[in-house]
Parts: sequence; C-alpha cells; structure tokens
Amino acid sequence: MRIANVEGRGSLIIDGQVVDVESATAGAITSDPMELVDLRNHPQMAKLRATEECRDVGDFKLGPPVPRPGKVIAIALNYRSHAEEANKPIPTEPHVMVKFSTCITGPYDDVFMHDLEMVDYEVELVLAVGRRGVRIPSYSAWEHVSGLTIGNDVSDRNEQFRPPIRQFSMAKSYDGFGPIGPILVTPDELQERDDLEISLEVDGELRQHARTSDFIFPVPVLIEWLSKYVTLEVGDLIFTGTTGGVGDSMDPPTYLRHNQIVEASIEGIGSIRNRFIAGDRP
Ligand code: ZN
Repeated sequence: MRIANVEGRGSLIIDGQVVDVESATAGAITSDPMELVDLRNHPQMAKLRATEECRDVGDFKLGPPVPRPGKVIAIALNYRSHAEEANKPIPTEPHVMVKFSTCITGPYDDVFMHDLEMVDYEVELVLAVGRRGVRIPSYSAWEHVSGLTIGNDVSDRNEQFRPPIRQFSMAKSYDGFGPIGPILVTPDELQERDDLEISLEVDGELRQHARTSDFIFPVPVLIEWLSKYVTLEVGDLIFTGTTGGVGDSMDPPTYLRHNQIVEASIEGIGSIRNRFIAGDRP
C-alpha cells in the first residue's frame, strides 16, 4: 500500500487516485494519518479500492505521511561510503541521535534557514514503526515496520560541531528540519527492500547517490539493536543515516543558499522537493 497525508487526512494512493480511508471504511478508521501507521489497521486498509468519485493525487497538497511521530531516532554513519569520506573507522555498533518530533514537515514544504550559514542536507531512508516492540530479534524486525519513506535530515553544521560540546540533536531539530514523504510505502511493495537506490540533488546537481545495501547496519540489525534498550512504539520514526556527498564534506564545504531546491529520492517511493529559504519561518 501507498499511504499519504492528503491535506491532513489519512489516505491511500491507488493507481494515482486518492482513497480517503475514513470515508472508505465508514469511519472504522479515523481521518488521522497516524492511524494508518498502525499495522493493526492494515488488513482493513488493504481491502480498499479506488472508485469513480476518487480524485487524482496531483490535485492535492500532501503533508508528512507521519505528521506526529512519537520519537524520531536518527542513525549517524550508516553507509560505508560516508564513513570512508569522513575518514571515520567503520563503527561496530550504531551511533544514535534524536530529532525532535516538531521538526517534521511536508514533502514539498519550504524549509526556513533563519540567518544560518551552514545548513546542510542528508537524504535518508526513514522507517515508520507500526507495531510496538522490545528486544525484537532481527529475523522478525521487518514485521514491526509499517512503511518506508524519504527523509531529509537537515542539519545546522555550525551548531552540530560548536565547541566545546557537540550538539547533534539540537542542530537537526529546528522546526522544518525534517521533511518526509511524499508517501509511506509498505515493505511488501518493494521487491528489494534492503537494496534501494537513494539520491539527492541540489538545484538539479547530483550530490548524493548510493544504495541502501551499503548500510553498515541493515534495517533488521538496527531494529534489534535499538529495541534491546529502547521500546519502539507505533508512530516512531527511524532515520537510517545518510551516504557520502553532504555539503559539509565537499572541498570547500558548500552549504545551502537562499532559494535552492533540494530533491531527495528513493527507488520505489518517489521524491521530496523542498525550497530552502534564508529567513525566519512565518
Ligand atoms: Zn542523518
């Protein structure tokens, strides 16, 4: 299934048509997009079909498919190519930071950079947790994932590395610094869910390009490791880390400027496209 937040209402996209889940289930599932993350609702959702009254998805503005995640876990350094580019040894266990849930924004929304001069992009595969779990073994980890989406882990590098103590979580959590979407795709829709092409362009110039099979910690390993210590709950998001090519590692370092368009794409899911604006959010 392809799950979307269509102007605030949980919907399925079927053959390019919007199926409003609350209407189609006669209210059995509410219009809250967070309901569609819950795997308990998926059997009923899977029976829905588009009808003649359905309208084209292009007629609507899409919001973030998981608008109010519980916690947003972000993994650092999860691609071999990125570790090599950063001259870092390959980690033996995941490194984790947090993005505050209020950073989440829509797939085509503007991102406001205030007066910051070191704002950077990171394309990431994002997992939505659809079933609560503790100590989840890797062999059943995918059974806890309700869908995959695209995220841009926007980061203020100045704040992230500001001495004397690094501040990863704050630097990645400003309002709007977590665009996700355009849709949440259930894992069964993807033939090779552990090997997806992932890329990012700035004003049409390719900056990041990899496959998720380059992960140091594949999805099942990440979920097993995280859930050993932390309860994963329905509606949590996991940003799985970025690949080489971030602006901070360019020579010279190159950060986002006013009016640039960042487009992040993942095979089988689509693309998100955000304009970066110098100035404060409205
Ligand atoms: Zn990241």
